Amino acid sequence: MDDDSKGSHLSVVLDLSPTHWELSSRDAPENTYPLTLATFLSQLLAFLNSHIACRHENTLAVFGAFPGKSIMLYSSSNAVLDSLSTDVNANSYPPFNIVDSTVVQRIMTELDSLEEHQEEAPTALVGALVKALCYVNRITLPTSSNSKTQSNGFHPGVLPDPRILILSVSPDLSTSYIPIMNAIFSAQKLKATIDVCQIYGPNTVFLQQAAHLTGGSYIFLERRDALLQYLIMSFLPPPSIRKTLSVPTQEQVDFRAACFCHKKIIDIGFVCSVCLSIFCQPLPVCTTCRTKFPMKTLQRLNAARPLLATGNSTRPSQSRMSTAGGPVTNNGVGGAPAAPHGGGQIANGNTNGARCVFHLG
Ligand SMILES: [Zn+2]
Ligand SMILES: [Zn+2]
Repeated sequence: MDDDSKGSHLSVVLDLSPTHWELSSRDAPENTYPLTLATFLSQLLAFLNSHIACRHENTLAVFGAFPGKSIMLYSSSNAVLDSLSTDVNANSYPPFNIVDSTVVQRIMTELDSLEEHQEEAPTALVGALVKALCYVNRITLPTSSNSKTQSNGFHPGVLPDPRILILSVSPDLSTSYIPIMNAIFSAQKLKATIDVCQIYGPNTVFLQQAAHLTGGSYIFLERRDALLQYLIMSFLPPPSIRKTLSVPTQEQVDFRAACFCHKKIIDIGFVCSVCLSIFCQPLPVCTTCRTKFPMKTLQRLNAARPLLATGNSTRPSQSRMSTAGGPVTNNGVGGAPAAPHGGGQIANGNTNGARCVFHLG
């Protein structure tokens, strides 16, 4: 691909949950490698500066997910305005200065304005992710005045390889399953890569799926004192270069979904064959599209449930679902079950998690 004349776009989504950053900064024995928000920010800024320094054409946007709200912290497209408020320092490169001061100032202002009771609220990570996608959509859509396609297939003014890096410290929020899946489909449509670095807390099921389904990398940070090294080695090169660099990828992807009825992450799910809604138990009527299912199927699925539960207990991290037509495995499109197949097995790509879907009706 000839994209020598183009830079690459990076949107960074920061999970700024005060509660989880406080937990992350605690010393041993709670954390082997404590990481404070201040250290994180200094390493992050070095990474953002490296991205800008790689190419003059590179563009950058930074989004912050705070408890209950998400805001855009920085965007290189309106950086000129922000530069007016920064002090001029002869010994520093102005674009670095603008990013550093804008990002840090906005984060501090937002965190200071939080009331104590607000700090416990879950962070609006999905909101920030969706804003990042809207931004990517805006910069990748050609404007009507220059909509001619160049000989290399790109529209002028359009950056190839847009990517979003999510730096997360919070565990999965099961109520955000549907919005995250929708965000993943939007990213796939925009051909945007989602990279995820889980800095603190357990592995997140949904973000693993986001990275897997958009061709990005998911990294669970074990040595948190080496954050900057992880960021630069894994997330600085654009996706087109990564194939030659052998960037770490996931060996296993947790493909479990959350049921639409209780928003719980489930091992065995039952899928409406009409609207593909996922439920944790066989239902006579789909609560989403009101389709009625035959009693016979429900009886058979209910009778099979104890068997499925024991069969699944040996593989706790994998999800199993199936159709009335016979067990089928989903071909890796987690959360968006593929169109119902009439039976037969499909191997599940490069993951160990075979996923079955029970279709009602
Ligand atoms: Zn449920
Ligand atoms: Zn339905």
